Amino acid sequence: MCHQSPVPAGRFAPSPTGLLHFGSLIAAMGSYLQARSSGARWLLRIEDTDPPREMPGAAAAILRTLQTYGFRHDGDVLYQSRRARHYDAALQQLARAGLLYACDCSRKQIREAAARTAYPAAYPGTCRERGLPLDGPYALRLRLPRDAAVSLQDGIQGLYRQNVREACGDFVLKRRDGLYAYQLAVVVDDGLCGISDVVRGADLLDNTPRQILLQQALGLPTPRYWHLPLIVNGDGEKLSKQTYAAPLDDNPLPQLQQAWCSLGQRKAATAGAQTVAAFWDLALQHWQMQRIPPGPLPQPDSADLNHPPPQV
Ligand code: GLU
Repeated sequence: MCHQSPVPAGRFAPSPTGLLHFGSLIAAMGSYLQARSSGARWLLRIEDTDPPREMPGAAAAILRTLQTYGFRHDGDVLYQSRRARHYDAALQQLARAGLLYACDCSRKQIREAAARTAYPAAYPGTCRERGLPLDGPYALRLRLPRDAAVSLQDGIQGLYRQNVREACGDFVLKRRDGLYAYQLAVVVDDGLCGISDVVRGADLLDNTPRQILLQQALGLPTPRYWHLPLIVNGDGEKLSKQTYAAPLDDNPLPQLQQAWCSLGQRKAATAGAQTVAAFWDLALQHWQMQRIPPGPLPQPDSADLNHPPPQV
């Protein structure tokens, strides 16, 4: 369970579609140090809303790795797969407000219809006024407000603007196959858990305007956002399971030191740490959020990951 509390909170929210890699460590460390250095709680949430994409055993492996790397979360781990009633309650609230509609368009129909509009990446609103039943075998979409232009001041990436109507259109909150969309689950959980600071990878920056509009539709507060630099491989691709990013190994110190440096922090500040606990003590003393670069950043050499960096 998860309770709102007046104490500020951050979170780390991995999807168990693969094991944690260096890019995940950046997100975990950035959110952890932002929370801990400001006296906030740090919550852990497993985003297991998409069973077909899940890797068996990944959730347990992620929790073990976080433990090995010295992360200590507050409260119980939240599993999104157990929170359907909260997502349904949010959908019902939107339905009562007339902000939800059902859609039976196929991907192909959407592509073809959108190609004939000025915004080919956006859902063109085909089913907006059709009045299909909300309890049928259909996807459920959010009815965007007329003015769907969002500006946000990100703590690392600066001013970011997006007109959600032009970029995505009315977006899906529940899929036709019955799975809850990431946008819905993340907004409901951040809202119900009182998350005040969202610190995560910059690959999610372009999702944030959708999440802000959904927060507004549900009457939830908008947290502060900090989108961390993306870590890219030699081909300029984001580290992920799809790009065969190496899983974090059981030798945390070198990788913690590397992640610290990738986050723009002074290498010398933690270089003397001989244990994971000593690393976190020093990291907390010396953490400076304003030093984080916007990125993207190259993945450190694997050679560096296998040997502790020289002490300076
Ligand atoms: N579950 C997402 C991921 O693993 C992160 C979602 C978020 O931080 O909002 O990329």
